[in-house]
Order: sequence, then structure tokens, then C-alpha cells
Amino acid sequence: MIPVAFNYVRARDVPDALRLLEAHGDDGKLLAGGHSLIPMMKLRLAAPGTIIDIGAIPGLTGIAHDGKRIEIGALTTHAALASSRELEQHAPVLWQAANELGDPQVRNRGTVGGACAHGDPSADYPAVMLALDATFTLTGADGTRDIGADAFFLGMFETALDPLEILTSIAFASAPNSAYAKFHHPASGYAVVGAAVKLTLAAGRIAAARVAFTGVGDAAFRALGVEAALAGVKTGDSAALDAACRDAAAGIEARGDTFASGEYRAAMADVFVRRAVAAALQPG
Ligand SMILES: Cc1cc2nc3c(=O)[nH]c(=O)nc-3n(C[C@H](O)[C@H](O)[C@H](O)COP(=O)(O)OP(=O)(O)OC[C@H]3O[C@@H](n4cnc5c(N)ncnc54)[C@H](O)[C@@H]3O)c2cc1C
Repeated sequence: MIPVAFNYVRARDVPDALRLLEAHGDDGKLLAGGHSLIPMMKLRLAAPGTIIDIGAIPGLTGIAHDGKRIEIGALTTHAALASSRELEQHAPVLWQAANELGDPQVRNRGTVGGACAHGDPSADYPAVMLALDATFTLTGADGTRDIGADAFFLGMFETALDPLEILTSIAFASAPNSAYAKFHHPASGYAVVGAAVKLTLAAGRIAAARVAFTGVGDAAFRALGVEAALAGVKTGDSAALDAACRDAAAGIEARGDTFASGEYRAAMADVFVRRAVAAALQPG
């Protein structure tokens, strides 16, 4: 549980961090909250020669809401998300996920940007960001580029981030009818199954839905079949809502491990997406 020796440098600002990334190449690794990178270093699953601490860079924290869109700085901690009244009202899916993530120590140090950049297949935010149709702003030497969540999460621990880029902010439209339902792993607290749902309602029906899972497959994914089946359903029609949430993980090879088989995870996906839909229909 002792990492290999490494150098530590602290970046003053984003240009300084980009310069340090460029200078250290494959040997350099960004450090935000450290709650995924440091455990990986201690297990010797990662052995960067230099860690570039971006944790103190000013201007990369905070939650801004202009009434329609919410923008979150990449260094905003899970605890800040979990205590945000703004998110509780306007993006409960993210607020709930932040409240159910890890423990107080993890929430106080870990960051939303780090959690998304890490791309852990059992992490909570990837499903949430897919459901919210979030936009990730990535900053590199040539400027910034925006990329949608659908194109950001590529696979197990794999995202669209270039090694020489920094995730600087995440933005999405207000989503008052959204919710997250999580089956916690009893030992790690990570998601065995996490279901994130965003609903658009009109005239007593679900006009559109975005539904995504984490924990089930090799990476977070959208349940397009459930999204299509929910569209047009009356909000009070329990039988139709139940039917729409069946076979939610169809077409996905569900992961199995010593705690939960793939078959069990797939069955629980149906249960947890139904719970998330019910909660999204009755926010607050
Ligand atoms: C005991 C424990 C329990 C946990 N439980 C959960 C849980 O239930 N659910 C869950 O989702 N997570 C859980 N986590 C993980 C936690 O959410 C981490 O905080 C998060 O995954 C990583 O964020 P960080 O800021 O700590 O990133 P770091 O550990 O500092 O970095 C993680 C990776 O992302 C890169 N990175 C960080 N920030 C950026 C950036 N802005 N731009 C580009 N790359 C960046 C780093 O180079 C590194 O590769 C748990 C962790 C622990 C230790």
C-alpha cells in the first residue's frame, strides 16, 4: 500500500497546468481531490513520475445557475454539490448522486471533474451526466472544446479527454424532473447499479426521457429502449411505467463479480430505474 516514489508539483493556474502536462508528457498525471488517483497509486495500478496538483487553481470551483442552465467548475467537491439548494431544486439527479457518493472524507476532497475524468464503470456521475445530456468543456494548449456526455464516456476508465487536456467545467440544462436511484455495494459504497433519469413532462404525459445506468456494464450507458418506451406514457399510468422499465439493460453485457452476477445486475437495473422514474415524477 505504498506508492512508488514520485515528484509533486503544484499548478498556479490552467496555463501553468497545461505547461506542466506538456513538460512531463506520459510521466505526468493531474491530481484533483486525489480520491481515485492516490488509491490507485497505493495499489500500484498507477505510477506517475510526477503528479501535477490542480487542486488550488482559482476559478474552477462553484455552481452557477442562470435560470435555464447550470455550470459547475471541475474542481467543485462532491460535498459542495451535495449541499447545493440550487441542485436540489433544479438538478436533483446530481444532488442525490452527490449525497449518496462515498463518505464524508471522500465528499469533502473528491471533485466532480476528477470523478468524470476517471471514468470508473461503477462511479455515480457518468450515468447522471448522460441523463442530463451534459456538456464537458476541455481545455488544452490550443484552447477549449466542448463535448457531449454521449461522446465523453468511452469505456472502462476511458474518456474522450486527451492526456494533455484538463476538464475545466460541466454544464447542462435545468432538470427539475430528474432522479438517481442507487444500489450501494455494501463494502465499497460504489454503485452495483445506479439509475439516472431525466424526464420532460407535458400535459400529464412524459414527453421525453433520458435514462442512463452505471455499475451494470463496462461503462455507463443510456437505456435507449426505456427512453423510447417512456415517451408518451401518462404520468399516472403505473402499469405502463412498469412495462417501460422492463429489460432496461437489454443488449448490454452486464458485469458479474463475487457480489453480484451479471444476471442479478440486469434484474436490479429494472428495479432501480423504476424507482428513479417514480422519484423524477414527484421531485422534492
Ligand atoms: C473510499 C472511497 C469511496 C468512494 N466511493 C465512491 C462512490 O460511491 N461513487 C463514486 O462515484 N465514486 C466514489 N469514490 C471515488 C471518488 O468519487 C473520487 O473523488 C473521484 O472518483 C475522483 O475525483 P478526485 O477529484 O478525487 O480525482 P483524482 O483522484 O485526483 O483524479 C482521478 C483521475 O482523474 C484525473 N483528473 C482529475 N481531475 C481532472 C481534470 N479536471 N481534468 C482532467 N483530468 C482530471 C486524474 O489525473 C486522475 O487520473 C470513492 C473513493 C474512495 C476513496
